[in-house]
Amino acid sequence: TKTIGVLNLQGAVREHIRALEKIGVKAVSVKKEEDFDMIDGLIIPGGESTAIGRLIREHHLEDRLRQFHQAGHAIFGTCAGLILCSTDDSHQTQDLRLGFINMEVERNGFGRQVASFETKLDFKGIERPVEAVFIRAPFIEKVGPGVSVLAEVEGRIVAAEQNNVLVTAHHPELTDDFAVLEYFMKKVS
Ligand code: GLN
Repeated sequence: TKTIGVLNLQGAVREHIRALEKIGVKAVSVKKEEDFDMIDGLIIPGGESTAIGRLIREHHLEDRLRQFHQAGHAIFGTCAGLILCSTDDSHQTQDLRLGFINMEVERNGFGRQVASFETKLDFKGIERPVEAVFIRAPFIEKVGPGVSVLAEVEGRIVAAEQNNVLVTAHHPELTDDFAVLEYFMKKVS
């Protein structure tokens, strides 16, 4: 059986752990370098991407994250986690970028708090529409070579993948529809 780590620095950590447990996956919190040794896949949760980025530096986790990625393990960035996985953001407001997906993002692209919304997403690779909650969500402005687009909302890209990395602008852990988490689990080996 697979163990999934949830990067536990800031943001929707408990929600992801609870959602993973609901689909029968063993989930653990990841806060230190050694924690990476016991996981098969990693979720970088939603929250505040600048705060998570700063804490990654403070906890000296950047190199370990990059190693984990290079080793080919599955990584899922949701919302703020998506921003951290990008190569660029249009207003250069994000300090730490892991560059796991060749894409440029627009932070808070749907507007601020008021622009939080719920919708049904057509998601490539998932047969039925997926319930999706967006909270001050980013969208993906541009993708480069090697990136597959998985979902869009009104012409804006909100989910993508490149090799072992999956990103979504919505919070897949906040509804009872866990189809996207199950999709991620298929990438975990
Ligand atoms: N707006 C947040 C950011 O830019 C992301 C919001 C979220 O993760 N729900 O970091």
